[in-house]
Formats: sequence, C-alpha cells, structure tokens
Amino acid sequence: MPLELVKNEDGSELIIDIDVPNQKIYARAWKIKVGRIPLYLLDTNIDKNSKDAKTITGQLYGGDRDMRIRQEIVLGIGGAKLLKALKIDPDVIHINEGHSAFLLLEKIRYYMDNGLSFDAAFQIVKSNCVFTTHTPVPAGNEIFSSDLFLKYFESLCQKFGISNEQLLKLGEFPFNQKDFSMTILALKTSNKANGVSRLHATVARDMWQGIWTNLPRKEVPITHITNGVHTNTWISNEISDLFDRYLGDCWRDEPADHTIWNRVTQIPDAEIWRGHERRRERLVTFARSRLRRQLERNGATRKIINLADEVLDPEALTIGFARRFASYKRGNLIFKDLDRIKKILTNKDFPVQIIMAGKAHPQDNIGKAIIQNIISLSKDPDLQRKVVFLEEYDVNVAHYLVQGADIWLNNPLRPEEASGTSGMKAAVNGVLNFSVLDGWWCEGYNGSNGWTIGSIKRYPDREYQDLVESRDIYEILENEIIPLFFTRGQDSIPRGWTQKMKFSMQALGPVFNTNRMIEEYTKKFYIPTALEYAKYKKDNCEPAKKKSEWIKSIYSNWDAVKFISTSDNISNEMKISNEITVQAKVYLGYISPNDVSVQIYSGYVNDGQSVSEPSIGIMNLVSKDNDNYVFEGKLLIDNVGKCGYTLRVLPQYEGEVQIVPCLIKWIQRI
Ligand SMILES: *Cc1c(COP(=O)(O)O)cnc(C)c1O
Repeated sequence: MPLELVKNEDGSELIIDIDVPNQKIYARAWKIKVGRIPLYLLDTNIDKNSKDAKTITGQLYGGDRDMRIRQEIVLGIGGAKLLKALKIDPDVIHINEGHSAFLLLEKIRYYMDNGLSFDAAFQIVKSNCVFTTHTPVPAGNEIFSSDLFLKYFESLCQKFGISNEQLLKLGEFPFNQKDFSMTILALKTSNKANGVSRLHATVARDMWQGIWTNLPRKEVPITHITNGVHTNTWISNEISDLFDRYLGDCWRDEPADHTIWNRVTQIPDAEIWRGHERRRERLVTFARSRLRRQLERNGATRKIINLADEVLDPEALTIGFARRFASYKRGNLIFKDLDRIKKILTNKDFPVQIIMAGKAHPQDNIGKAIIQNIISLSKDPDLQRKVVFLEEYDVNVAHYLVQGADIWLNNPLRPEEASGTSGMKAAVNGVLNFSVLDGWWCEGYNGSNGWTIGSIKRYPDREYQDLVESRDIYEILENEIIPLFFTRGQDSIPRGWTQKMKFSMQALGPVFNTNRMIEEYTKKFYIPTALEYAKYKKDNCEPAKKKSEWIKSIYSNWDAVKFISTSDNISNEMKISNEITVQAKVYLGYISPNDVSVQIYSGYVNDGQSVSEPSIGIMNLVSKDNDNYVFEGKLLIDNVGKCGYTLRVLPQYEGEVQIVPCLIKWIQRI
C-alpha cells in the first residue's frame, strides 16, 4: 500500500500519547497520499500499549460504549496531538459528523496551557472550526452518558478550572441533562455549520433548534451545502469517450460549468445508446461471475452454481439498487407486493430485472434481516434469473452498478436520507433516477430528468407509508418506465429514453459534483473561517480575550434586558406602500445600546401567534428616557392580508448581530 510510517526528525517513530484515567494510550501514525492530500491514520496496535489499548483502532464497529468513547478520544484528541507534533496549525478545521469533536476540547486545552482563560480559548477554537452534519439518524449523532463522559473528562474540568456541569453543557441537550452529544459539542464550538442537502439542513435546523432557545427555526445557524460526486471517478470509459468527443475535454476539469454540459444534446442517440448498452452487458457479466463466486463460497450445489451463468439478461430493463442496508433505506420495498413485482419481472415481452448490492451495519439486525429477505427471494423459482443480490458491496461493485443499470432506485423514508450520492454517480452515466423526493433528489429532480416515488407526505403509520410508496413504484414502472424503455425505433433505439438520459446528464452533471461542492465550502465556509481565526489569533489572541469578556458580560446582564413599552402609528386602513413607524422603549441595564440590535420581525400572521415568511428590520437608537433607550424603526407595508410584527433584541458585537444560545429576547405582541 502507498503508506508510510510517520517519523520524527531524528528518524525514530513518531508516537503520540493520550491521557486517560490510570493509563496512557499511545499511537503511531501512517501517512497515505490521496492525490495531493496527505491522510494520516492513527494506530494503537503497538507494543508500548496495554493489551486493551492495542485493540482501540482494531475494529470500527466493535466493542461497547467504553470502547467507542476511547476510539473517539484517540481520533479527536490523538488527531489534534498528531497535527501539533507535525507543527500543522490548520487555518480551518472541518469536522465531519461529531465523531472527532473531542479535538475541540484538546484545542481548548492548548490555548489554556498558553495562558488563555477557558472562555477565550473556547472563542478562538470556535473561530477555527466548521462542522458538517451528515445524517439525522441516531447512529451518526453519537451520544455518551454523562457518567461515561465524565469518567474520561473530569480531570480536564479540573485542569480547565470549570465545573463538571460547565463542561457537560457544551454537549448537552437543553432539556435532557443526562447525555453528552458530540453533534451538539460540534455545533456549539464551530464558526459555521451545514447539512448536506437543502432538505437535510431544514431537518437539522429542526433537530437542533433547542440549542438556540427562542430563535426561529429558519434562523438556526445550520445552512446547506449539497454533496457532490467526483465525476471523473464515477464515469464509465464509454460515456467519458463520448464526452471527450462531444463536450470537449474541458468537462474533466470544469465539470461545474453548465455551458459544457449543454453540449450533451449533440451526442447522437445511437452512440449514447450503444455506449450504455455496452455498460449494461458488462454489468450482467460481472454480476454473473460475482454470483458464481458467492455461491461457491457459500457452499451451494454444483447445479445451482452453474445456473449463475444463466441469470439476468443483457437486454432487459435493469433496475439498480446499491447502498448500505440501513433500515430507513427500505431495501426490500420493491418486493412489498410479491405477486405484483413478479408479474412485472416475468413479463416475456418486456423483461425487467433487479441487481442489488449492499451491507448492513454489524449491529443492525433489521438491516441484516432485509438482506436475508432479498437473498431468499432471489432463490424463488420465479425470480432466480431476475433478482440478483451481490455481496461484499464496495466501490468496485458500485462502479459496475451505477454505470450499467438503466434506472437507479432509491426509496428511503423521507426525510431520513440526508443527501444520498449513488444517484449522482448514476446520473453522470446517463442512468435515470427513480427516487423518493428526499435528500439531493429534492434539488435534482426537475420534472423531466427521472421519476419520483410517492409524495412528500409522511404518514403516522409506517406500514401504510410502505404500501402507498410501493404501489407508486409499481405504477410508475408499469405505466411510464417500462413503456418508455421498450418503445423502440426501427433501429431499435428508444429515443424517448435516450432523450431523458441526456436531460438528466445535462441538468444533474454540472451541479452534483465535487468541484461545485468544494467551491461552495471554500466560499461560504473556509475563507470566512480562516479570516475569522486570523482575526482572533493575532496579537497573542487579544481579540479572542476581548470578545470572550464581552460575551461573558452580556450573559451576566442579559436577564435584565426587557421591553418597557412600544408604540406605532398603525391606523385602521393601511395600504400597500404605506410606512409604519414603530418605537420601542427598552431597558438594557448595564448593557450599552451599541451592543444590541433591536429588530422589527414582521410578516404574515398565521394564528395570531407566529409570523411566517418573516423579514427583519433594524431599529435605531433615537433617544434616552431616564434609564431606558428609545429605538425607532420603519416598517413598509408590501403585502396584503393579515400581517403583523413583533420586536426582539439580540446582542451585537462590533456591528455584527450575534446568534448565541439563549441570547435573544422578544416582546410578545403581534
Ligand atoms: C456511493 C456509495 C455509497 C453511498 O451511496 P448512497 O446513495 O449515498 O447511500 C455507499 N457505498 C459505496 C461503495 C458507494 O460507492
């Protein structure tokens, strides 16, 4: 493997150590070059370690909660220590899921060792990090009991000079003080945060709104940057040859350029179809040989093994489905009504087949049962030539499937699929997506570049949901997909289909790729965060100290902040383009009026309680009245219907409104 041991300057093995109760864990590091990017892997399997510390990096999903927290300590704290030993001080630290988030505590420790207070150290670490949450499902959002957390971090509290409660608070749910959430730690300690599709970000804002008590959901600081795939990695030779010829070779370097993809229309139908048919044939050959090996490995009889050469049909409409078998992805939904799917698959005139692949998490018994169910169905005499399940799913299997299938099926339980990426891999190859409107497909689907399953409705009854959506799968297959695929010209080319392939490539190719994604991360997250970090780090972190003192004083004085009175000049009959003047008398206690932003929050009034589609207007300080400040703002009427406003006050630092947990006050009047 292209892998080398990381060494000290004197040539000896570089070893980092991590303190845990009554023990030290040691780790060495391996460096892999992924293109131009060094990737470091930590390894605890060294002689210096105790017997159980050796096993920490042995298995990803092994062991109990104690093992898991030690793995995350090695990853986070060990990772930060390794970078320190290598003298790497990243301008931006990008945490993907919360698993490595203990690095934040380790970084805080460094700054405190250099004389900063806990609050100032927190401030600077926060300015240095961005965080991406990748899934709403619990497995991605690690939680440790506070007892387990304190077992490893109590000594750190002493070192930090803060109470256990204060440290726990960094990862605590506002209404559940028993657990420490890695996602919350990461959200609270980063400069920017995002979900991996537009829909997923709304789900994430919903899930984590409680951290920012009283902040409207829309303003919860989690934005979206939708995932993408590396086009060059996933495209087949057949299709990339066509692109070279008809798009020009710049598509490889500039896949996010829309104008390049518009040239897809110039690829002749016959050529794109020939290229695709070739891929389907390759997929069928590959599936047969994998199936043979798999049957041999599993001790099948010779007769059954020989049958492997006869499964599938290189000319049949091929449905691909490959991904992890997490239960929310509903791998066996298409078999819900067995008679109906059999009828579809065994039609002699319009042959259809399904090739599936995937693995379940070793502890996910539901996921494993779904795989067992599919494997047993694939042995049904009616289905054994029509349904193939490939074991040992990996990127190689994925390549064949996303290049050779005709349609790519994806039926997660909305909205649990944060993004999904295999459909993007399929799309660049002209494979048409047939998916629930979840994750990326919500943004990708445009009405003519594939199909959607079900509606966006979530029924309380899961069984009913499965029933409705499986029926939709059958109906669309029978009425749209199969007829379109088998409507052939005299030259046996399905022109309706190739048309759709091109629509799909043209619409999805330029958007759902890593070039567009990285550009977005760079512009929205990396550059602003690098600047923020530089700002707080300069002059020996003086700006971080100053800001943390400021926040502390705001927190301790915030309780006193209140609206004393408000007034406006609303008359009975208001017309579009009329302007309302709103005044508010606000008591700020010891807080300076420069340190707050008083705002008019206006929009449609739903139920006399809440405002939808809000807009925010700024109120300016106009006078002082004894201990109170008078703020005034204008509100332009630009909507008909039942509109209203309410007022609020938030802290403001150096002219910038601060979204900080618990620092927002509203006046309850709409
Ligand atoms: C792309 C890919 C995945 C992810 O697929 P999703 O659609 O995001 O579930 C998983 N495993 C392998 C091997 C892949 O290539």
